[in-house]
Amino acid sequence: MLTIPTSILVEARTFFEDRGALGCEGTAMIAGTDGVATKLVVPEQHANPVPYCSVEVTRQGKSELALALGPDDRYVARIHSHPALAFHSASDDANPAITYPGALSIVVPFFGLGLRQSLDACAVLVRRDRRWLEVPAGPDRNDLVVAR
Ligand SMILES: [Zn+2]
Repeated sequence: MLTIPTSILVEARTFFEDRGALGCEGTAMIAGTDGVATKLVVPEQHANPVPYCSVEVTRQGKSELALALGPDDRYVARIHSHPALAFHSASDDANPAITYPGALSIVVPFFGLGLRQSLDACAVLVRRDRRWLEVPAGPDRNDLVVAR
């Protein structure tokens, strides 16, 4: 069960909207300790709005991610935006950002604007049995992740 402070989601939304204004997706990681998200880490990334939206964390971004964790932190969720609907694409499934059992992946629709609604407007997936399982908004998801 992960609690994400609203401030972290606002920070993510702002970043995604800024990227979206350029026609780009954005990606970030959420670090946490003891079931509470503690910070959003936005690594250096390179986005290509044409011919279709895609985003790639640079080599420097990967080392930023590695260095951003404190001794008691770990990455509890990956969060990224999509231009339109929120779902896990084949490349999202293949992305090795985090893959331990119970890790979360949040996809924000409409270049981040979906987060204005709430986490319920996003896709949330949990890593189980070596695959990503989508958990629809509702009681099951509320057992997994809540925003406060
Ligand atoms: Zn995606």
